[in-house]
Amino acid sequence: MTVPNALTIDVEEWFHVCGLSGAPAPPPAEERVGAAVERILGLLTDGGVKATFFVLGCVAEQHPALVPAIAAAGHEIASHGWSHRLVTDLSPAEFRDEIRRTGDLLERQAGRRPTGFRAPQWSLCRKRTPWAFPILRQEGYRYDASLSPLPFVGDRQGPRGPHAIDTPAGRLVEIPPLVTPTPFGNLPTGGGWGFRFFPERIITATIRRLNRRGMPAVLFLHPREVDPEGPRLPLPPLRSFVAYGPRCSAEGRLRTLVRQFEFTTLAHVVDVWDTA
Ligand SMILES: [Zn+2]
Repeated sequence: MTVPNALTIDVEEWFHVCGLSGAPAPPPAEERVGAAVERILGLLTDGGVKATFFVLGCVAEQHPALVPAIAAAGHEIASHGWSHRLVTDLSPAEFRDEIRRTGDLLERQAGRRPTGFRAPQWSLCRKRTPWAFPILRQEGYRYDASLSPLPFVGDRQGPRGPHAIDTPAGRLVEIPPLVTPTPFGNLPTGGGWGFRFFPERIITATIRRLNRRGMPAVLFLHPREVDPEGPRLPLPPLRSFVAYGPRCSAEGRLRTLVRQFEFTTLAHVVDVWDTA
């Protein structure tokens, strides 16, 4: 049996980067997200692949043609919150407002309410924001893709595959991003700097191993990673590498991977896992 993997894109601007909560104030005037998303849509069409786009509410509001174009190409529209503020920086009421506002807008633009959520910078956390899980369920979300089994940004001991999270408001399906286990801990090979930096064979071997165990691999990408000419915020070297690095390598890798593996939307992966 072929195990479908999921390709996910966090639709945000080049300045919504790791280490910042929200956008810089005032947000830079230059906008790049529209052209970069178009490039990603072309890549997906070439590969005959459907993907999940976690769209930031403020970006959808500023570019009202973006979500309808992604949805018209048959991809899933999901929520990345409204402002890119970290969940750990929000009160429960602010979090509810962010995801409801984003859900309302995406529903108007895509004709369908999103059922999936990914927090900015993996900032949803069992220990620090346990209140967020029932709120997601109450607001109509069916799955979450925010818990990364990594040190520093997530829970290094967390499960690597899909699992259920029981909340007082009902069950939520959790789908973590791909990581590669090593004796020194999990490597972030599913996206971002790890996807661009580690040898491709490590990523393909990890996907094969997971798929042999019947588990999906979840990859993630940001529009700025396929925009080699794009501007960069002046960040300290390590943060700059994590956020930007050599961006063009992400697109080439993605093109190779969609030829080798089956990819689909996260909603479909959740359907398959839920009925297994
Ligand atoms: Zn983000």
